[in-house]
Amino acid sequence: MILATGSYSNPLPVEGLDEVTVWTNREATTTREVPARAVIIGGGPNGVETSQWLSRLGCEVTLVQHADVLVNREDRRVGEIIKGVLEEEGIGVRVGRRVERARKEGDGAVVTLDDGEEIPTDVVVTVAGRTPRTEGIGLESVGIEPDEKGISVDERCHVIGAPEGVWAVGDVTGKLLFTHVAQYQGRVAVANILGGDRRANYDGVPRVVFSDPEIAAVGLTEEEARSRGMDVTAVTVDLPETIAKPWTYEQEPRGTLSLVADRARGVLVGAWAVAPQAGEWIHHAATAIRIGIPVTELRDGVAQFPTFTGAYIDAFELLDI
Ligand SMILES: Cc1cc2nc3c(=O)[nH]c(=O)nc-3n(C[C@H](O)[C@H](O)[C@H](O)COP(=O)(O)OP(=O)(O)OC[C@H]3O[C@@H](n4cnc5c(N)ncnc54)[C@H](O)[C@@H]3O)c2cc1C
Repeated sequence: MILATGSYSNPLPVEGLDEVTVWTNREATTTREVPARAVIIGGGPNGVETSQWLSRLGCEVTLVQHADVLVNREDRRVGEIIKGVLEEEGIGVRVGRRVERARKEGDGAVVTLDDGEEIPTDVVVTVAGRTPRTEGIGLESVGIEPDEKGISVDERCHVIGAPEGVWAVGDVTGKLLFTHVAQYQGRVAVANILGGDRRANYDGVPRVVFSDPEIAAVGLTEEEARSRGMDVTAVTVDLPETIAKPWTYEQEPRGTLSLVADRARGVLVGAWAVAPQAGEWIHHAATAIRIGIPVTELRDGVAQFPTFTGAYIDAFELLDI
C-alpha cells in the first residue's frame, strides 16, 4: 500500500472571507475569466507566480505578504529582487502586512490590512501554505499517527510505526512539497517494494519559482549555513557583467547568481539565482551539492560560450577556497 494523498491549501482564518469571492490555486488556474482586480494573500512561491501571470493577463493585482520579505524561506536578496520586478510591472506589493478582514461591497469586496489600508477587489486569492492530507483515510486502523508535518517515513519511504508493506510518498510525507520530490520518492519506494534497498537522499534538491525572471535555489542559504556553524565563503555575481554576450538572450540583460560554500570541506552547500532560465541552469549547482564535488574541481570546468552556466566559472574563482 502506497499512501500518496498529497496536501491541501491552508484555510485562512480571516474574518469575512466567507462573504467574498475566494479562490485557491485551483480556481485561479482553471478560471476562464480574468478578474479586473485581485488581492493575493501569501507572498511565497505560488503568490509570486500567481500575481505576475494574473497581472500580465490584465488584472490589477495587490500581493499581501505577512513576512517582511517575499519568498521568505530564501535569501533576503531574492525576495527584494523579485519585489522590485513585480512593482515595476505595476503590481502592488505589501510586505510585513496581514489581511485582517474582508467585506462585501457592491459587486466586489474590500480587504482591510492590519495598518488600516483598504483595498477594493473582485477576488481574494489565498495561497498561504499547504497541509498534508492525512485525515479521513483510516490511518488509525493501521496504527499510523500522523503529526502536523504529515506521515513520517524512513529513508526507504516506509511509514514509520506501520506494519510491513505500508509506504508513503509525496506531499503527505511532509518532506519537500514538490512534484519532483514526490516522483523521486515514488522511484525509491517502488525499488524497495521490488526487493531492493534504496535510500532517499534529499540533498541538492532544486526549488524553482516560475516567475519571470525565474527564481531558482538549492541547498542552504548563507544564513542557514552560518547557523549550522559552517566556515562559510559566499559570492554573488551580476550576470550582465559576468557572462559573455549577455544580450544573446535578452535585450536588457539582468540576473544574479549567488553561491555559498563550506570552506572546511571545500564544497558548495547552497546556491540561488534570479535570472532567465535559472530553473534550468541551477542544476549545475544542484549536482555539485548532491555529489559534493570539490570547488577546486568545479573551477576546472569549461562552460559553453555564451551561456548562463558560464557565470559559475567566475563565481567558483571568487570563492575563498
Ligand atoms: C499552485 C501550485 C503550484 C505548484 N507548482 C509546482 C511546481 O511548479 N513544481 C513543483 O515541483 N511542485 C509544484 N507544486 C507542488 C506540487 O503540486 C506537489 O508537490 C505535488 O503535486 C505533490 O504530489 P503528490 O502526489 O504528493 O500529491 P497530489 O499531486 O496532490 O496528488 C494527490 C492525489 O491524491 C488524491 N487523493 C486524496 N485523498 C484521496 C483518497 N482518500 N483516496 C484516493 N485519492 C485521494 C487527490 O485527489 C490527488 O489527486 C505546486 C503546488 C501548487 C499548489
